[in-house]
Amino acid sequence: MRILLVEDDPSLASGIRLALKPEHYTVDHLSDGATALNALTEGEPFDAVILDLGLPRLDGMEVLNAVRRHGSHVPILVLTARDAVDNRIAGLDAGADDYLIKPFEVAELKARLRALLRRSQGQTSSLLTYRGITLDPHTLHVGYQGASVTLSRRELTLLQEFMSHPGRVFTRDTLTRLVYGWEEDVESNAIEVHIHHLRRKLFSDAIRTVRGIGYVMDKPAKDEA
Ligand code: CA
Repeated sequence: MRILLVEDDPSLASGIRLALKPEHYTVDHLSDGATALNALTEGEPFDAVILDLGLPRLDGMEVLNAVRRHGSHVPILVLTARDAVDNRIAGLDAGADDYLIKPFEVAELKARLRALLRRSQGQTSSLLTYRGITLDPHTLHVGYQGASVTLSRRELTLLQEFMSHPGRVFTRDTLTRLVYGWEEDVESNAIEVHIHHLRRKLFSDAIRTVRGIGYVMDKPAKDEA
């Protein structure tokens, strides 16, 4: 899961990033509205956005309006000051999925984010399954043929993405963004290494290489599903 955090207060932003780190998220951070709007309308694949309303260059409310006008349905959790009651109501009307009033508890933010992601993915309780592999999106427990499998956070992110979209070919670039966000200094073979580990921990043709393009988890044959 890749989250975009748009917050101009550096200490709040780093606190949120720190809090989300142990969770199963890749968090990218931007601190002004204009850059955020660009990222959101130029096809960057985010699973959810945490959006502050008071932002430099372009107000959070304008970002929200423009993103929805652009046709994006990405779940957006708005952060707003306690005294901005009108803003809050307008924010929800403009297409925010939820909002939190500052100051808030980090645990509350995590819970709201989880609920938002669950709603957007329609994963109320559904276990992902694929040829003997099971992945519980809530507990993030992974099993293969009944036995528990221990995956790293990044392996888990990749596996969940593949299992959510069987038959979809993912380019290496897409997967790198998904796992690392805009993090720099990513080894060029990083994704290859994670895929290698997944195959070793699960089974060798769980994920197929599409030469020159990337990787796919093939749709299972009917009798294997
Ligand atoms: Ca602010």
